[in-house]
Amino acid sequence: MEILRGISVATGVAIGEAVVLEAEQFRIPFRAVSANAVPAEVDRVVLACEASIVELGHQAETLNANWGSDAANVFQWHIGILKDARLRSNIETLIRDRLWSAAYATSRVMRDYQRRFLQMKDPLLVERIRDVQDIERRLLRSILGETREDLSKLTKPVVLIAHDLTPSQTARLADTKVIGVALDAGAATSHTAILLRSWGKPGVVGLKDISTRVSGGEWVVIDGTNQIVVTNPNEPALLEYRAREAAHIRLSGQLDEMRGLAAVTRDGVPIDLHCNIEFPYEVAIGVNKGAAGVGLYRTEFLFLRPEGAPSEDEQYSAYREAILSAGGRPVTIRTFDLGADKYTQERSYEQERNPMLGLRSIRYSLQSLDLFKVQLRAILRASVEGDVRVMFPLITSLMEFRQAKMTLHDAMEDLEEEGIPWNRDIKVGMMLETPAAAIQIKEFCREVDFISIGTNDLVQYLLAVDRGNERVSQFYTASHPAVLRVLRDVVRVCKRAEVDCGICGEMAGEPLYAIFLVGIGLRQFSMAPANIGEIKKLIRLITVPQAQRLAGRALGFETARQVSNYLRSRTRKILPEEPV
Ligand code: PEP
Ligand code: MG
Repeated sequence: MEILRGISVATGVAIGEAVVLEAEQFRIPFRAVSANAVPAEVDRVVLACEASIVELGHQAETLNANWGSDAANVFQWHIGILKDARLRSNIETLIRDRLWSAAYATSRVMRDYQRRFLQMKDPLLVERIRDVQDIERRLLRSILGETREDLSKLTKPVVLIAHDLTPSQTARLADTKVIGVALDAGAATSHTAILLRSWGKPGVVGLKDISTRVSGGEWVVIDGTNQIVVTNPNEPALLEYRAREAAHIRLSGQLDEMRGLAAVTRDGVPIDLHCNIEFPYEVAIGVNKGAAGVGLYRTEFLFLRPEGAPSEDEQYSAYREAILSAGGRPVTIRTFDLGADKYTQERSYEQERNPMLGLRSIRYSLQSLDLFKVQLRAILRASVEGDVRVMFPLITSLMEFRQAKMTLHDAMEDLEEEGIPWNRDIKVGMMLETPAAAIQIKEFCREVDFISIGTNDLVQYLLAVDRGNERVSQFYTASHPAVLRVLRDVVRVCKRAEVDCGICGEMAGEPLYAIFLVGIGLRQFSMAPANIGEIKKLIRLITVPQAQRLAGRALGFETARQVSNYLRSRTRKILPEEPV
């Protein structure tokens, strides 16, 4: 039995057999083989090379017939690499000398090739790196063969172990029998973590090397509540975790029973609790948990599918479905927040060196106007179905907001000319996610209909910590006094300007911060549906003056540790039965 500590993305306990994902895009965990297995491992490499050459030959022939020899030459180049005797002997040496598995040795040699291409001066040769990655995937597909996991075909519940998952891979887990996830990489507010949270299954990320410690088939416990993963649990541990699993289910049931109660403080101040969604079907889940609307619809998840960007009609149907499911409740549609960890990197030849500071979000939208306009048309067309608001992400300057609004007006004019109706009272707002926008909040208040504070990004940019990087996750905290003060100031300015201001970052769904946020004057929270019950329970136990006193005290501390210790002790007093 081994206990590993990571970062929780969703509470609860999942107990099941492990499936380790090592297909295609994933790192191949280190595996040693016995000396007797060496010849078989070497044969697997030879067979994989030969099979790949045949496969590529067929593909080159088809391409040649349809598109001519230029297109087919790419595959001829792949065949040339696979025939290179040095490639095979390099892999064979690693298997013989180091007793590495065929998959691991192949992956290491191909990664080495990629590194060498990357160092070449000729840009054309650097582009070859994609081809080398392609060859690696082809070989691994062939070597791993039947052992590759197709998660949609699972017949019994399993816990999934992987090095990392991209948001698009995570999005595909929803319809599978995966009951919990543990990853080497990731941090609490990475988009992968956010998806796992909205999916509501227990998950722990940032475990660093779990994918090399588990080989698949053994029992694993994911304890999202206590941020740990237990591999090969012994009998007493299993019994204890089964009891915890039952207790968690009981507690969630009790919280669900609060669905019909108002989200109002003890002294009668209503707090709007909205839900964050990534897919239209989640609106019903949110409403069922008591959401008063959708505070953040992350539309970019529509784009994270193998076929790429959805058409205007496909988008229109998705937005319409979400709006209709909300049944008259407000729906805030955020325009696609692509880039950084979503979409663009997977599709680019050369990945950005610093994607979180790169071409992402509204910057990407304003440089991809055709794509952007298609989305705005789809949102506007769907807006006649209910109370819809449009929100632009990651605004850093007034010019950006104005440009985005101008593009929206262009789309409106086009619809007008075509005689297509849209909701003429549609509100247009922005996410406050950058220090620059926080500093210029007064000016923004003159131009926006509403503000929604995205603390996931705001914290990363204020503290200069990549929100998805497990190596620096200890520095990422919303308890930092600078974060608290910025939030207080933003809310204060919005209030004075009479501009609606809500919060939709993960902080909004954390009991640890709820009282503070009420104390600084926030009255609209948007969060993963699974968090609504707990936050409502807490809100119903406090008064506004009590929250204001707590906020005032929290704002007086000098370090994040003092802040979180204080908030934890106060919250535990009010809500002793919940983990904070
Ligand atoms: C945020 O940054 O807080 C936010 C809600 O947006 P996202 O997590 O999608 O970046
Ligand atoms: Mg954001």
